[in-house]
Amino acid sequence: MTYRELCQFATQQMSSAQIENASVDAWLLLEAVCQINRSFFLVHGDEHVPCEQEDAYLDLLKKRCTHIPLQYLIGEQEFMGIPFKVTPDVLIPRQDTESLVEEALKYLKPGQKVLDMCTGSGCIAISLKSFVPEAEVTAVDVSEGALAVAKENSEKNELPVTLIHSDLFCQVSDKYDMIVSNPPYIPSAVIATLMPEVRDHEPMQALDGTEDGLYFYEKITRDSILFLKEGGMLLYEIGHDQGQAVSEMMTAAGYVNVRVIQDLAGLDRVVVGRRKENV
Ligand code: GLN
Repeated sequence: MTYRELCQFATQQMSSAQIENASVDAWLLLEAVCQINRSFFLVHGDEHVPCEQEDAYLDLLKKRCTHIPLQYLIGEQEFMGIPFKVTPDVLIPRQDTESLVEEALKYLKPGQKVLDMCTGSGCIAISLKSFVPEAEVTAVDVSEGALAVAKENSEKNELPVTLIHSDLFCQVSDKYDMIVSNPPYIPSAVIATLMPEVRDHEPMQALDGTEDGLYFYEKITRDSILFLKEGGMLLYEIGHDQGQAVSEMMTAAGYVNVRVIQDLAGLDRVVVGRRKENV
């Protein structure tokens, strides 16, 4: 088949398999497998795809039709302009999470210590290190599989962060100027309603926030008081309907100037607060 025919064939196959944005995925897969860009496609679209590449493309297409996320097939997702390796051990970095990083960057100063709780691929920690290279960045996860991916991402982007294998704060002992977290926050009952790409393929451990979705916010909010310096900042990504619950929780725990911030779609996405002096 030619590049154009292969792309059209993949779009049809994925549409019949109820894959959203089939034509976008058909192109992204072609771009990744054949290592081509748009201008190559415009000039050479009617030439035949080399056999080996066609076989590799059709193999991945078959997998994509079973709703395995495109990023796991390609093995990569960009976040804050940085390429991150992804495997089924980690949540695929979301654009929504860039709102959390952008908010954190308003406060993070060179020389400060920041902790990323539940780091997954390391996308938050590593991008903070990229924008504030003089910050000391530490990243925590309970999953050894996730930490291995975060380590690779730190190394391949040459952005060093300290990785700690820990169930929340169990193995953490230092004090930080900032704690950031995008913890699992989807209420258990909602998980069944998610698209199959997420529900069946992304790590459940990274999604499930237990019954009301607030379990990790409760634990992290309570414990972070002990691991933040006076006046330190706590920043969370939240689900669009969790702003009030999480900000009330933070205020009750001794945080001041607690604010909910919207993402680019206008949805509540980040909660930020400052640890009171002497709580
Ligand atoms: N911190 C990672 C991210 O934002 C992982 C989050 C998670 O596993 N809940 O993508």
